[in-house]
Amino acid sequence: MIPILIYHSINEPRRDHVWGVLSLPPAVFARQMEYLRRAGLAPITLQEAYEGLQNPALLPPNPVVVTFDDGYLDNWLFAFPILEKYRIPATVFPPNAFIDRRPGLRERRGIAPGDPASYGFMSFDELRQMEASGLVRIESHSMTHGEITVGPRILDFHHPDGDAYWLYWQMFPERKPGWLTVDYRAEIPLGVPVYQHTYAMVERAWNTPGEERQACIEHVAGNGGSAFFQRVGWREELRAVAAEAAPSDRDSQERRESEAAYRERVMRELRDSRRELEEAMGHEVRFLCWPCGLYNETIRAWAQEAGFWATLTCDQHSNHPAQDPTLLHRLYFGQDERYLRSPTNRLLNLRFRGTLKSAHGSPVGKIMTVAANRSMALIDLARRKAGKTRSYRAIKASG
Ligand SMILES: [Zn+2]
Repeated sequence: MIPILIYHSINEPRRDHVWGVLSLPPAVFARQMEYLRRAGLAPITLQEAYEGLQNPALLPPNPVVVTFDDGYLDNWLFAFPILEKYRIPATVFPPNAFIDRRPGLRERRGIAPGDPASYGFMSFDELRQMEASGLVRIESHSMTHGEITVGPRILDFHHPDGDAYWLYWQMFPERKPGWLTVDYRAEIPLGVPVYQHTYAMVERAWNTPGEERQACIEHVAGNGGSAFFQRVGWREELRAVAAEAAPSDRDSQERRESEAAYRERVMRELRDSRRELEEAMGHEVRFLCWPCGLYNETIRAWAQEAGFWATLTCDQHSNHPAQDPTLLHRLYFGQDERYLRSPTNRLLNLRFRGTLKSAHGSPVGKIMTVAANRSMALIDLARRKAGKTRSYRAIKASG
């Protein structure tokens, strides 16, 4: 079996940010990488895993693959030196739209985990510098990594505590590389309807009526702005405003993106990403990591058509030689702020080691994983009973 590990940000988790759940502290990451070496695992590249699944004789005993999604600046600042220290190869999947377009390498000196200067995304120069080490390979995570509207139903409206961060991406696509460094909430007009949505490639888009949006924004602005949201029943009030402004064709199927336009849009996501990365990195781009781990059979076929050898999921299991090598599965665990502190971080560590051991056929690993998961479930239950659980919005795998 080949376990492929998913990491995102390697940084102190931000308690005030919707994506804080995607951060693993550098010290924990370092312990995990050290464990891979100490326990005799064999970190291999993604391509070695892909080839090894088709020809297991090529594989070393106890292989493991390390991957990073999204291309966070902290990968360059904190994760890369750890990879270098333990000589661990890794694949990084930066979505093109999030790559920082400014040239140059950012200094590591003077920047500690948790410093605002560590928030952001890597530049092409930083990506190239990591590849120059021979340890890191850059592959695709699609062009936009965006969210799209997929239906006419209004789920909510943007409000002062709203966490529909992708509205910021939709409004200011060119500001994606900086979105972790700004107060994105304040930039989204209050009252904007949040329609049914999903990651860009998995569904046909829905063209929502601008009249509703405009009416809701104006209603909030004309009724006190942020103070409007202290009114009891503000959601119902905005729903009525939206309904009043709705055009007669708001629910018409004509608003659904055509099959042809959908295909063209996805092919651009795939082909443009691949082409730009190949030009910037100077090598063929062979793997695609699905944003948020979302995929279906149609877009898998399109990814193959766009030239990708294989695509990667967040489906939470390891890979074995009998499977289809063009769909590689990954394991997501570790980034869970509730367990990052002592003493519960021991459970996280137990789950990490148990998962890897059981992937390589150890019954003890299975026991370790089950024990860690049960203990975590019990702690969760106790915390819930004690009313200590913060409102916690888990972001499923790859944000
Ligand atoms: Zn992602």
